[in-house]
Amino acid sequence: MATTRSLTLTRSNQLRQRAERLLPGGVDSPVRAFRAVGGEPPFLTRAEGAYLYDADGNRYLDYFGSWGPMILGHAFPPVVEAIQKAAAASASFGASTAAEADLAELVTRAVPSIEKLRFVSSGTEATMSALRLARAFTGRNYIVKFEGCYHGHSDGLLAKAGSGLATFGIPGSAGVPEQIAQLTLTLPYNDVAAVEAAFAAHKNEIACVIVEPVAGNMGCVLPEPGYLQALRDITAREGALLIFDEVMTGFRVAYGGVQELTQIRPDLTTLGKIIGGGLPVGAFGGRAEIMDKLAPLGPVYQAGTLSGNPLAMAAGIATLSHLEKNRESIYEQIDNTAAAVANGVASAAASAGIPLTTNRQGAMFTWFFTANPVRDFASAESADTKRFATFHRGMLDRGIWLPPSQFEAAFLGTAHTQDHVDQTIAAAREVFTGMQE
Ligand SMILES: *Cc1c(COP(=O)(O)O)cnc(C)c1O
Repeated sequence: MATTRSLTLTRSNQLRQRAERLLPGGVDSPVRAFRAVGGEPPFLTRAEGAYLYDADGNRYLDYFGSWGPMILGHAFPPVVEAIQKAAAASASFGASTAAEADLAELVTRAVPSIEKLRFVSSGTEATMSALRLARAFTGRNYIVKFEGCYHGHSDGLLAKAGSGLATFGIPGSAGVPEQIAQLTLTLPYNDVAAVEAAFAAHKNEIACVIVEPVAGNMGCVLPEPGYLQALRDITAREGALLIFDEVMTGFRVAYGGVQELTQIRPDLTTLGKIIGGGLPVGAFGGRAEIMDKLAPLGPVYQAGTLSGNPLAMAAGIATLSHLEKNRESIYEQIDNTAAAVANGVASAAASAGIPLTTNRQGAMFTWFFTANPVRDFASAESADTKRFATFHRGMLDRGIWLPPSQFEAAFLGTAHTQDHVDQTIAAAREVFTGMQE
């Protein structure tokens, strides 16, 4: 029996109305406005472990983890303590500290293809800087990206960039000059022939191929067997760099990211999200020979007032240290929890006769409302986004917070338990029953 519920969001709605007068759409990042799923976004006040709390006192089980970073749960005590300690010693110096090399050591130990790296303040900065470096290193201008992959919002990377844009039905973005967009060759994901064709058409002109090695920004889409190896082989043969954008997958699908799972070594890697433990951090790194082209050693300029910020470094060190020490148990635990919830909800949909395709890699997954296999952006777009919106709303009403778009991956972490899984499956069963009527 489907029960109709709805949240009390009185205070959240007051806060939203005030925010809408001051911030475009009331938000600082578009998907937060819930336009793709309808309804009003709750305004959050605090979170602990696997739970989020809003301004009206509603509690939600969190399946988005601040879009990925909160793998150890919210307000994880060692991370909180590290930030407090760093803050007491000054929030920022704008000069070097030991913490930068400490975090760099943790990252290079986890991701052996990274010999040297540089910290920035967001994933967007990391990918934008990696592209500049790839162009400078190869002396070429074109870049290859894939439909549905999102690499932050810099000009050249917004063509067919998944999630946020797909959510709003925008193909690219206004304000990106055609001359810049023309240098981005956008190809379908999981299509090796398209990559071969692009390199044939632009012989010696392509600087790099940038890819989400497990895609998360068109919803979770897995690389088919051999796909990433083909990208490695083609780029090596053609003298182009291969960039794995592991901002989402790094320290998420395995401690060492997709490159640990596949043993494929990209030339450059971009990171973010988990490496900042919830604070604003990104990083790009790779072969020393390439990284040494950066100023002050080389001619590629890149800089940041708050880059390597001590609070962010402290949160990152606390997070990665805990993950490194417990990597055997943690990644197995979150894989099992994610499998249980992903498969449990999938069975509930099957029982209710609702077509659902579940894609998952470790603790990163998407329920697509379609009977089709989802292997690229076109198949992701075949999902019924109205159904997803109904599902999202129904789950939110039952205290389950899912990412607010069909084209975003869900995440869970070490704070999620079998009890949480059972509650989630029970809520999904109710919502699916309601959707049949
Ligand atoms: C989130 C994300 C980015 C952008 O990172 P920001 O910190 O939001 O700028 C880039 N690439 C991928 C794969 C991401 O998931």
